[in-house]
Amino acid sequence: MVAIAPPFVLEHSYSRQFPELAFQWQAEPPSNPSFVVCNDDLAEQLGISLDWLRSEDALNLFSGRSTLDGGETFALAYAGHQFGSYSPRLGDGRALLIGEGIGPRGDRYDLHLKGSGRTPFARGGDGRAVLGPMLREYILGESMSALGVPTTRALAVISTGEAVRRERPLPGAILVRVASSHIRVGTFQYAAAIGDIERLRALADYTIERHYPTIGDSEDRYLALLNSVVDAQAKLIAQWMLVGFIHGVMNTDNMTISGETIDYGPCAFMERVDSRTVFSSIDEMGRYAYGKQPSIGQWNLARFAETLLPLIAEDPQAAVEPATEVLVGFQQKFDSYWLQGMRQRLGLVTEQDGDESIARDLVTAMSDRQLDLLTTFRALSTELRGQPVDLGDWTLRWRQRLEAEGRPLTDIADNMDAINPVYVPRNHLVESVLADATNGSLTQLNRLMSAVRNPYVARDELLEFSMPGPIDPTYRTYCGT
Ligand code: AMP
Ligand code: MG
Repeated sequence: MVAIAPPFVLEHSYSRQFPELAFQWQAEPPSNPSFVVCNDDLAEQLGISLDWLRSEDALNLFSGRSTLDGGETFALAYAGHQFGSYSPRLGDGRALLIGEGIGPRGDRYDLHLKGSGRTPFARGGDGRAVLGPMLREYILGESMSALGVPTTRALAVISTGEAVRRERPLPGAILVRVASSHIRVGTFQYAAAIGDIERLRALADYTIERHYPTIGDSEDRYLALLNSVVDAQAKLIAQWMLVGFIHGVMNTDNMTISGETIDYGPCAFMERVDSRTVFSSIDEMGRYAYGKQPSIGQWNLARFAETLLPLIAEDPQAAVEPATEVLVGFQQKFDSYWLQGMRQRLGLVTEQDGDESIARDLVTAMSDRQLDLLTTFRALSTELRGQPVDLGDWTLRWRQRLEAEGRPLTDIADNMDAINPVYVPRNHLVESVLADATNGSLTQLNRLMSAVRNPYVARDELLEFSMPGPIDPTYRTYCGT
């Protein structure tokens, strides 16, 4: 067989510059790896040839059996607040950064293996990952990406051919993750705790150059970095809220500086509008409930801001006021992104003062009636085509507001259908797809993927994927590692 040259050179700009944050470490490769899924869509975007992606070389690289040109791989260090309490040393316990690729448009991305064996950060863990949860991360990442929500994505999921010991033996897997970087709020917390301000400054400068290059060398660039991350997270969380996504574990180590969604664990799409909805079995206090996500996001950003204080001003006390002002701005940014998204969902192109109350009252009307978020948005365009939806007085108010748009209702309905999704990975379907996949059948996974990859076009043969699951207030997704 002719070897296909790898389509990329892997660089190590981060690991080389920050040896205190990236520990050189090798995978414990599985004996019998094979591809379960390869993400052709993502490969094409990254300029990776589909032939190479399916090659023995790719399998060896992505299962940790070999590296490119004998290159090194790294376990990344980070700290984090988990459910509000601080752990000074978390880090990649079962993951490795194999390097940075450069995409066709010159953008740098991380290639990261999850489930590649124990590292110095593994603590009591076995360093392994299970097929079901890795496929969940793949499904959710593809869905979010198709919905236009910034996210990390999986380039492939590999079966290790080995069993992983959990409550019962389960098939092991490795997820090949692509992220614009793995710099997290927790990375800054770890770097700040080292106590060397020049190293912290170097990390902030690196982050600015990689993620927010327009900030440049301005004198207040660290305050500008804070503001950019506040803005990116306000936008991201507004997008989560608009599609009913519940992350489930918004610890500071699971919040990126780039503004991408990362670490899909016990996450889910909400089935009936209720701000208290929690899906994660480990979130007993509802800290990360649907409606709390904006305020938790802001809390996490405050932890990020604390790490930047000594960079913002020589006397950190003098930095508190401007940093607080930026943090307080989160709410206004979030509200504005959310309202902008709601206007689109409701078919409003123009802006009027009463729009916010129309948007908020719709949420209340849905919540009072226990309606599903996405099917209700979708029903609104159907209402414009003559099939009434029961939302009480609200529908009349909205229809009156639409008159001010001055466009034919059928055009408005078409515009709404182009941005209100029909398909998201509903919990009960994801669970059943993962159970099938664990038993070796990928038929349902492939059907679900075709639905969520093209989420705005309703298709008769995929009808079951458009419906919310049965009401089950006790439903929990398990942390399933
Ligand atoms: P997560 O819940 O995936 O965000 O992980 C939280 C922390 O636990 C991270 O430091 C992980 O690397 C670590 N971790 C999770 N599962 C394992 C495992 N099976 N072995 C080693 N470390 C793990
Ligand atoms: Mg994590």
